[in-house]
Amino acid sequence: MSIFKKVHFSTREISDDIKEELVWFLSALYKNGQIYYDYQLIKEEKEYVAYVTTAEEDSLDSKYMNSYLLNYLENISFSIENMGENIDIDECCNCADVTTFFLKSSYIDNASPIKCGKCSKGIPLYKIPYILSESEHISILSWQRNYKAIDRLWMQSLADRFTKRQLESPRSMLFITAMEIRNELDRVLQRPVYYYISFQDKVPTHCPICSQIWQEINNCGCADLLCNQCHIATCK
Ligand SMILES: [Zn+2]
Ligand SMILES: [Zn+2]
Repeated sequence: MSIFKKVHFSTREISDDIKEELVWFLSALYKNGQIYYDYQLIKEEKEYVAYVTTAEEDSLDSKYMNSYLLNYLENISFSIENMGENIDIDECCNCADVTTFFLKSSYIDNASPIKCGKCSKGIPLYKIPYILSESEHISILSWQRNYKAIDRLWMQSLADRFTKRQLESPRSMLFITAMEIRNELDRVLQRPVYYYISFQDKVPTHCPICSQIWQEINNCGCADLLCNQCHIATCK
């Protein structure tokens, strides 16, 4: 389950310098996939606290931190209070071995956009190797935020021509960026990774990139049509 937590920061004083450091620390935790996006930093009477949601019990462990976060730990220490399950964010994948991955999101998806092919749940980004020479997951997270924004515009029937093209056309920037991320994930995970395309009206009978007929698959929580040449997927 996704866990809502109250993080108590143990600081000697309440000051703007410390506040700024905590703002950066939380932002770095988000960019590393250790907390989900909708976090809050609150100044209480005697301490700063943050309300965050994490994928797992131990998501804030230093073993998942990158070098930026470990540097912050020289000045910042905290304790964690579990507040309960955040039912707004799907639980994460707990499969022992993930053999196929999907890059997939939607306007209502608040979890990781890297989904397990078996259980279809998101895999916490701190368990995914970094891509594109980054030391955090900024490309994946920005792509997801853009995807969600465009999907929401489509759902609200705003700018239909533009949004449909971004979601479906292999020549759109959203699609091209997704495929760059997919290629990199394929390389670092050493397992097949598919980009999931959500066709808005009618699912084409053939792959929109190579025009070959889709391959049908069963027992996959994420998709039932694949193109194994282009590594894209969809549902009937
Ligand atoms: Zn799984
Ligand atoms: Zn294809």
